[in-house]
Amino acid sequence: MSHLLEVNNLKVSFHTYAGEVQAVRGVTFYVNEGETLAIVGESGCGKTVTSKAIMGLVASPQGEVKKDSEIKFKGINILKYTNKQWQDYRGKDAGMIFQDPMTSLNPTMKIGNQIREGIIKHQKVSKKEAQERTIELLKKVNIPNPIERIQQYPHEFSGGMRQRVMIAIALACNPQLMIADEPTTALDVTIQAQIIKLLKEIQRVNHSAIIMITHDLGVVAGMADRVAVMYAGKIVEEGSAEEIFENPQHPYTYALLNAVPNLELENKAELHVIPGTPPDLVAPPKGCGFASRCEYCMEVCNRYEPQYTQISKSHRTMCWLHDEIAKEVYGFDNVRS
Ligand code: SF4
Repeated sequence: MSHLLEVNNLKVSFHTYAGEVQAVRGVTFYVNEGETLAIVGESGCGKTVTSKAIMGLVASPQGEVKKDSEIKFKGINILKYTNKQWQDYRGKDAGMIFQDPMTSLNPTMKIGNQIREGIIKHQKVSKKEAQERTIELLKKVNIPNPIERIQQYPHEFSGGMRQRVMIAIALACNPQLMIADEPTTALDVTIQAQIIKLLKEIQRVNHSAIIMITHDLGVVAGMADRVAVMYAGKIVEEGSAEEIFENPQHPYTYALLNAVPNLELENKAELHVIPGTPPDLVAPPKGCGFASRCEYCMEVCNRYEPQYTQISKSHRTMCWLHDEIAKEVYGFDNVRS
């Protein structure tokens, strides 16, 4: 089966005064029609930069998608697109839901106009048809009284309502791919649940694929079919949601799962944190990016970068612990406990 989206060896850097920050360092994954892939990891791991590259939103000259990278949408390498083709793709094929609707919506423009703008531009319909479609979209994302609401400004909407408007804008042209970048972070828990339910319902009806960028494993558990765990600009583990939650194989994934607050813990003060900080991506480590924080680190980990080991057909991880030869040569005597 060919994939809806294929990302091959994606590398993205930012040129700063401090040097070249290698934010994404050779990421490969795919997304199929109708499925949800969650990309998880802590801030700065490269997940948002990856999503921006898929939307053609890495701003040059500071940002640079490296030449040997490939992002294929329905088999076509979209990194070769012209500006016009990117605009069409963003209008028709892919939609993005941003983290903070307050800064993504134009505060000086009525909500209706913000939704209508995209419909007129990409669907070449009359103003009247675009208006009808805008009202339909607001109904679809469960905004009450849409006829009155289209005349209002973003500040007249609550945080949850604004996020629904963002979803309506992303849906305006029925995209086959939706990228949701931390769509529930700014919302309280009950509204988060409503937004996740809405996204799932839209996905069921439209059969669209969703890439969910998040650090919230609760959101992942409720929504994802597959999960890619990113650390220091690389995917360190990828598998079905069940494989990642039930059978994690990378020490960073164990640490992320352990860091989730657990109400059943007797001593609530016993929250697990991941010690240390991610490496400097101006000068990334020669070996494993997680080595300085990993309690299983071996000598080999600091010297050489691990390759992927296939745990099952759908599950892979990048860690020397799974390399039989490394285990034989280096043993585990020098494991830092
Ligand atoms: Fe830890 Fe080594 Fe595996 Fe990296 S390769 S996660 S340092 S055991």
